Amino acid sequence: APALKISNLRKTYDNGHEALKGIDLEVKQGDFFALLGPNGAGKSTTLGIVSGLVNKTSGDVCVYGQDIEGDWFHAKRLLGVVPQEFNFNQFEKVQDIVVTQAGYYGMNHQEALIQSEKYLKALDLWDKRDVPSRMLSGGMKRRLMIARALVHNPKLLILDEPTAGVDIELRLSMWEYLTKLNEEEGTTIILTTHYLEEAESLCENIAIINHGDIVTNTSMRSLLQEL
Ligand code: ADP
Ligand code: ADP
Repeated sequence: APALKISNLRKTYDNGHEALKGIDLEVKQGDFFALLGPNGAGKSTTLGIVSGLVNKTSGDVCVYGQDIEGDWFHAKRLLGVVPQEFNFNQFEKVQDIVVTQAGYYGMNHQEALIQSEKYLKALDLWDKRDVPSRMLSGGMKRRLMIARALVHNPKLLILDEPTAGVDIELRLSMWEYLTKLNEEEGTTIILTTHYLEEAESLCENIAIINHGDIVTNTSMRSLLQEL
């Protein structure tokens, strides 16, 4: 099965705004995929639906062959989600945030400690493990979002504008980490971005969304040949 298959997905918000007009999208296992488009195109809405944060109006979404409506708990275990906005408890300590997340997936405390150590070290946050999240810099908070999303070893990692407002040095180190995760662990990665440069550096395949429609769906290589 593909890592993600979206069929005829529609979203009309309560105010009548039609954010997705029946999109189709397929992302294969092991892919590094970018959903590109200008502000307001429908990127966050799409990923929000896949992540269970936004209710769809109609259409189907399958994660590794699993309909997210049929067995949400099972689908959720396959997914790691890095939203755009920080949504930590400001007073909770860094490692506790990751351990708490592990608990949501039914991991026992010992295993949660091991997993949190693994990802806090990988994202260069181990020194900060006992610090309340409000004391972290913006870049550290971004990396904590990624550590938290990975704690249960998801097969599909979804990131919404992961490097928006991030300085160039951190952007490069995040790109390097995500590339390694994709290549070495085989994690499928989908990100949204409005930087073509980001997609160009990282991604094999892309879709461009505009006004709620997919207007291009191709490999990065053939897109660059067209330009
Ligand atoms: P993007 O992530 O590509 O910037 P979004 O998916 O956030 O786009 O938004 C798509 C469109 O839907 C935009 O026009 C946005 O203003 C609108 N929108 C997003 N959330 C809501 C909402 N809760 N209610 C109404 N309209 C919304
Ligand atoms: P997003 O990051 O998904 O675009 P925002 O941070 O822009 O969302 O929006 C904050 C809140 O306002 C959310 O609850 C979102 O659903 C809502 N919202 C966003 N755009 C619109 C819109 N055009 N009309 C009504 N509500 C909106």
